[in-house]
Amino acid sequence: MNAAEIRALDERYVLATYARAPFVLERGEGAYLYDTEGRAYLDFVSGIAVNALGYGDPDVRRALHEQAERLIHVSNLYLTAPQAQLAQMLVERSFADKVFFCNSGTEAAEAALKFARKWAKVRFGPEKNEILAFSEGFHGRTMGALAVTPRPHYQDPFRPLVPGAKFATFNDLASAEALLDEKTCACIVEPVQGEGGVNLATTEFLRGLRQLCTERQVLLIFDEVQCGLGRTGTLWAHEFYGVQPDLMTLAKPLAGGLPMGATLLKEEVAETVAVGDHGSTFAANPLVCAVAQVVVNKISAPQFLEHVRRAGSYLEGRLLELQQRHGQIRQVRGRGLIWGLETDRDVTPLIQAGYEEGLITCKAGPRVLRLLPPLIVGQAELDRAVEILDRAFSRL
Ligand SMILES: *Cc1c(COP(=O)(O)O)cnc(C)c1O
Repeated sequence: MNAAEIRALDERYVLATYARAPFVLERGEGAYLYDTEGRAYLDFVSGIAVNALGYGDPDVRRALHEQAERLIHVSNLYLTAPQAQLAQMLVERSFADKVFFCNSGTEAAEAALKFARKWAKVRFGPEKNEILAFSEGFHGRTMGALAVTPRPHYQDPFRPLVPGAKFATFNDLASAEALLDEKTCACIVEPVQGEGGVNLATTEFLRGLRQLCTERQVLLIFDEVQCGLGRTGTLWAHEFYGVQPDLMTLAKPLAGGLPMGATLLKEEVAETVAVGDHGSTFAANPLVCAVAQVVVNKISAPQFLEHVRRAGSYLEGRLLELQQRHGQIRQVRGRGLIWGLETDRDVTPLIQAGYEEGLITCKAGPRVLRLLPPLIVGQAELDRAVEILDRAFSRL
């Protein structure tokens, strides 16, 4: 089937909830994707921060094949080794004492919100049930996560929303302080906002939030679905700030492209959750867990994280040069290998121009071009991407 035929099938049969790129992808290798016509694309989206190890990682493939030969799925009514081992790996590498597994970022947010409400109900009674979230935050599209994702475009078609959400301004501690009252059970925030425009929390903001949450008996939830697992150059994005949450959500890169989410929690919260309170049929089956073990092991290796930091500061330098040359670029922001170029116009034509030259990028809001290369990206690939962007900016 050629690209036009595949496009026709998609248009006829798949519900159109995405604006699709003009090509059809067929295979990948390292930091490159190839379309059905054999064209190569340098991939600076990575499945939206999913393919941290790039395409075709031999250890991921081996784990997938070996586990598929043995056992793919059993219910969570039954124990399997890969799941228990993965939970141990996540706990030993984080602030957390326990892990709840699910299948996506939005499910990890749902679980975190449910656990926060359960904790508050058990410890303080039913009045303490509100969730504080932030402007430009993104936590997912199912009803609970959507209720704490304050974008009219996402929320308005689906009202009424789950009640109890309230919103402060990201990086404005006073606005959060004003809303953190005795009715608040949790506060959810991305240490580095992805979808909302690649916005970095300030240290003052995140530390202040931690302190306020502790004082006012509010659980602090970090959504590290996009910024976690090495993306910013430390295993957890919050390490940079020297603060720890009470709960943390993970997903995107966790299982190397297989669907997996996880909610990590402290014992204090975990002990209020009872058997039967929450669950998932597919979550953490042996196949996903075997692959996730490989991903977590590789990403948490000190040399790997060192590579992300080095590549990230090299890319930062190149992007700042790009900003010098192109007045359309208002700001360059990011950390590690998540970067946003805020421009003075819609970035859609820029993304299209990239496609024509074999570079895949995406947006984070209409005016921010977002770069999420695989974490294994090399210097030559960073240079190539910047050169393509340079020409694309010149053309516009
Ligand atoms: C992508 C994302 C989610 C939602 O994840 P899905 O797997 O698409 O449900 C939640 N939070 C953040 C920060 C994300 O980037």
